[in-house]
Amino acid sequence: LYRRGFAGDTFNTAWYARRLLPEDWTVAFGSCIGTDAVSAEMSDFMVSQGVDTAALRRVADRSVGLYMISLLDGERSFSYWRAQSAARLLADDPAWLADILKDRDTIYFSGITLAILEPKDRATFLDALRKARAAGKTIAFDPNLRPRLWPDTKAMTTGIMEGAAVSDIALPSFEDEATWFRDANPEATAARYIDAGASMVVVKNGADAVHFRDATGSGEVEVPAITQVIDTTAAGDSFNAAILAGLKDNTPLPQSIAAACKLSGAVVQARGALVETDI
Ligand code: AMP
Repeated sequence: LYRRGFAGDTFNTAWYARRLLPEDWTVAFGSCIGTDAVSAEMSDFMVSQGVDTAALRRVADRSVGLYMISLLDGERSFSYWRAQSAARLLADDPAWLADILKDRDTIYFSGITLAILEPKDRATFLDALRKARAAGKTIAFDPNLRPRLWPDTKAMTTGIMEGAAVSDIALPSFEDEATWFRDANPEATAARYIDAGASMVVVKNGADAVHFRDATGSGEVEVPAITQVIDTTAAGDSFNAAILAGLKDNTPLPQSIAAACKLSGAVVQARGALVETDI
């Protein structure tokens, strides 16, 4: 018996953002799905969760990416079937892509979004974001470094910094950044994303203090201690949703970070990606 769920980096953030934002804000998920039953069930699930599906495109002969999680002594490992997922076609139709981006205030994507695109489509995607940014939209990016999804380290670090170059907000996690970019400390990570063109950077660091930099300055926000971490899935994704939700009324960044820590702190104390909390 397998238990099926629908989740994944950017969708998790959309799911949490939907909960954090007032009713009259729209949270849409832009991607491609198949024309099969499972794709329709995924879309229905999104609708049931209040996530707008107008930016989902149906393509024939493809389906949603599948993965299974195995548990061994509480440690999770993943098996993937997604080489041919519909989502990999996200940027193969530039006119459709421009259309789904045109009515948004904030557009959020991740390093996984970049990793699953062919180089040609990645260039199309980045170009669409560049144009959206020039048209006044806020672009937010979680580098979400996943070496297994890239041909090699150089391709990953190059691709990630191309993503950074079209972004206003960068939401990296220090441990991964230190591993792959050799940053000495969170300040160095923030500086690298500021140099790439971001105006706001929030560097997550597990249980350690969150470092931030924006137009008003830089600083640290302590992470409240947690007695027992059950499952860190979607910690960063939910954190990002709280930062994005804070943009709606220009909440001061340290205040948004405190809210993000509170939410992700609750998320790591429960199993699964999508955790119902009253935060
Ligand atoms: P990460 O992407 O692992 O750096 O985690 C994102 C956010 O989740 C952190 O900034 C914290 O707010 C929260 N978080 C992750 N791990 C822990 C932990 N062990 N204790 C408390 N909060 C955590």
